[in-house]
Amino acid sequence: MENTAKPLRRVVIVGGGAAGWMSAAALSAVLKPPYEIRLVESEEIGIIGVGEATIPLIKMFNGLAQLDEATFLKATQGTFKLGIEFVNWGRVGERYFHGFGRVGKPLWPVDFTQYWLRLRALGRAEPIDAYVVSSMAAKANRFMLPKPEMQNSPLADLAYAYHFDASLYARHLRALSERRGVRRTEGKVVRVLLDEAPGPTHGHVRAVQMESGEMVEGDLFLDCSGFAGLLADKALGVGFEDWSHWLPCDRAWAVPSESTKPLLPYTRSTAHSAGWQWRIPLQHRVGNGHVYSSQHMSDDEAAAVLLRNLDAPALADPRLIRFKTGMRKDAWTRNVVAIGMSAGFVEPLESTALHLVQMGVAGLIEAFPHSGFDPVEIAEYNRQSRQRYESVRDFIVLHYHLNQREDGGFWQACANMAVPEGLRWRMALYAASGRLVYVDTDLFREPSWFEVMEGQNLRPKRWLALTELQGLEDTVNYLKGVSDTIANCVSVMPEHSEFIRHYCQAPKM
Ligand SMILES: Cc1cc2nc3c(=O)[nH]c(=O)nc-3n(C[C@H](O)[C@H](O)[C@H](O)COP(=O)(O)OP(=O)(O)OC[C@H]3O[C@@H](n4cnc5c(N)ncnc54)[C@H](O)[C@@H]3O)c2cc1C
Repeated sequence: MENTAKPLRRVVIVGGGAAGWMSAAALSAVLKPPYEIRLVESEEIGIIGVGEATIPLIKMFNGLAQLDEATFLKATQGTFKLGIEFVNWGRVGERYFHGFGRVGKPLWPVDFTQYWLRLRALGRAEPIDAYVVSSMAAKANRFMLPKPEMQNSPLADLAYAYHFDASLYARHLRALSERRGVRRTEGKVVRVLLDEAPGPTHGHVRAVQMESGEMVEGDLFLDCSGFAGLLADKALGVGFEDWSHWLPCDRAWAVPSESTKPLLPYTRSTAHSAGWQWRIPLQHRVGNGHVYSSQHMSDDEAAAVLLRNLDAPALADPRLIRFKTGMRKDAWTRNVVAIGMSAGFVEPLESTALHLVQMGVAGLIEAFPHSGFDPVEIAEYNRQSRQRYESVRDFIVLHYHLNQREDGGFWQACANMAVPEGLRWRMALYAASGRLVYVDTDLFREPSWFEVMEGQNLRPKRWLALTELQGLEDTVNYLKGVSDTIANCVSVMPEHSEFIRHYCQAPKM
């Protein structure tokens, strides 16, 4: 097949937040000369600087970008994350764990959770955390790396992610990318120039003009300019699909606080009367923030709620961040691919934004054009991107919708709202028989949906018939074997802070 279009060689990334530098790090690991990668960013505008909690799939990104784990954790004051503790989400006073990784141990022919539902109904099961190694380790404040060689052990594939300082993360990725030849240009973009000549590239971005007057030209542009949406929104006018009727929080106050002991290996999310508060422990400080709906709470009150609920003194004044939940109608338009918050934003309840960045750049690498831009490739990229955003959205909406709180309009409105159809169907199926659905674009697998639905009090009417193929006492013994093994595994793990001291202790700041 002959390709007559100009070869695509010059990639320009506009923006140097996590999205820009993650894209630069991943692309520079793959694209060698004659490809050129340039990144423009403005220190004066700065970066959002939050985005400190991740999910286990970030390890795939580390592989793609060739990041060494211990080095990057040292450089970013990083800690380990085994899951999220949710406080006050179902009802005020309740708490549950969304631990990463599997629940229980497979036993043919139904899912492990079915046996647990049966035994729970008979009063013979332990709380679900007892069957989730990451949850038990988190509650015991312990951590170790998985032991893949111990094939039958829950330690073989212990699932974990990281907490890190977002600004240090961008800095670390920048150093790595520059070593691999990415050229950085400091300054503000003041104009975006489109190709006006008739032909296949008509309307494509040709260059961005810097405040200094310099023109940065390219063949492919990544819009990583965050909420500014300089290329996708302002220059190309790609529309935005608003999801705030499902996810009404639109602001956050963020503030760092002093470290506390012990160093927890998990994020905590505490629901308040019009939103929720995050607590992310790093080596040198704790990151905190209060995400809320400005329709239901004033900014002053939201800041006061945050400061009142810190575990230790604040290290700075709180910073207000405004956001809108939704997604860009098309992430990729002409020669512009929006990655990061310019492509869309779903609030940080399950720490998914950096994952969406990673998938955005991985998808681009997969479909990287030889020359020209094939509408079929672009359509497929956009289809996959949409499905990822929608699947994350539905999972987050679940947390809000499935509440039984009685303390005000915000939570009742969430409980009463009509949810997206896919979510309605998942909840209906679970409520009928405890069945869990997996769709191939789901980011969160069945155990995650289970832990949240169970943790927020959705109770199935019955369990599946074939659960009873196992005799009752056999099932009791099987579950006991699983929880005993998990308890043993946790007992041999070192304390989280001890593990960090040996593996990735960061310099004092
Ligand atoms: C409250 C909150 C909490 C969050 N928590 C999490 C979390 O726990 N986990 C998670 O995964 N994600 C989280 N996120 C999301 C995460 O922070 C972002 O997805 C991530 O940081 C990527 O942001 P970005 O790079 O797209 O944008 P930004 O960090 O805003 O970067 C934009 C870049 O564009 C540049 N720029 C903009 N305009 C111009 C211009 N005119 N000229 C030159 N340069 C320009 C800026 O200087 C900057 O370098 C959170 C987000 C918010 C709002």
